[in-house]
Amino acid sequence: MATDYYELPEVERDASTDEIKRAYRIAARRYHPDANPGDADAEARFKEVANAYEVLSDDQKRRNYDRYGSDGPQMGDAFGGFGGGGLGDIFDAFFGGGGQPGGGGVGRPGRSAGPDLEVAVEIPFESAVFGAQQEVTVRTAVPCEPCEATGAAPGSAPFPCAQCGGSGQVRQVRQSILGQMVTAGPCPVCRGSGEVIADPCKTCKGEGREVTDKTYTIDIPAGVDTGSTLRLSGFGAVGPRGGPTGDLYVQVRVLPHPRFVRQGDDLVHQLHLPITQAALGAAISFETLDGNEDLVIPRGTQAGKVFRLRGRGVPHVRGRGRGDLLVQVVVDTPTDLEPEVEEALRQIAAVRGEEVAPPDKGFFSRIKSAFH
Ligand code: ZN
Ligand code: ZN
Repeated sequence: MATDYYELPEVERDASTDEIKRAYRIAARRYHPDANPGDADAEARFKEVANAYEVLSDDQKRRNYDRYGSDGPQMGDAFGGFGGGGLGDIFDAFFGGGGQPGGGGVGRPGRSAGPDLEVAVEIPFESAVFGAQQEVTVRTAVPCEPCEATGAAPGSAPFPCAQCGGSGQVRQVRQSILGQMVTAGPCPVCRGSGEVIADPCKTCKGEGREVTDKTYTIDIPAGVDTGSTLRLSGFGAVGPRGGPTGDLYVQVRVLPHPRFVRQGDDLVHQLHLPITQAALGAAISFETLDGNEDLVIPRGTQAGKVFRLRGRGVPHVRGRGRGDLLVQVVVDTPTDLEPEVEEALRQIAAVRGEEVAPPDKGFFSRIKSAFH
């Protein structure tokens, strides 16, 4: 075959496998025999595209092709061999007929995998910071006990499928102008499992698994946040008749904390101080998530001042160390003044020459009316 594989749909010689797949998928759709009934040119084109795709989508074959061209060693024709792989896989790759990743899949005899599951969990703020164990309950599939996941009634056993000879896949041969087109797919009799059950288990009706609620205790790692997803390999639903188990994805939502707001791996707390402590300074006991700590408020602390307690924040979920705890000062202006307090404040104002409103409660209403 003299056609340059890089020119069928035009792709760069250094194009990535993904780019090649995309280009070939588009070309395959355009030239597919179903889209061009009776068009011999399109069909020939489609065969070329499929052939080239099989080479360029496989790293080893592509390297060989780059070195030796299409006459090089190990350049099997996609249409040549009728045994497994070949065109069936190409159709699957183009048109999405392939099996589940990790599962038995179409075209390969064996068990298909159970689905991945997803569950959302709400955890207390402290559990996110320090890590914890948490129970989650999911609707899942587990192996059927009476038949031991075989799907066959106790005392009986599955036998190999006569239709596909136990391979789980069948090939269909279609006549066309250019000869035979071969497609491979799962056996319709055994649905790709290669086995037939004459006497199905009554509990699971031959499925080999049962749907049930199951509770797992999972480890929440320190440092997770809302939006974190934990993947628990093998905690999903079991596949039919003893097929592999899928994964469980746990979506984390962290409940808010009454005193701390999270910013990345830092915690922020708004510390309310009366003007006396802000002006004169104080040593206060401050409650962190790790226990009480002494916090020294220097004289003359301004509103908005941030004290940083290093390492008192959230552990980095990847890597070592923790974020910080940021204590942000809010100075509370006193209201509902006791007469002595008001007197003291007026003395301060007098000493510092600061003009303040007179004690007369009518003052503000007069100001207001002056603006009318
Ligand atoms: Zn079969
Ligand atoms: Zn059963």
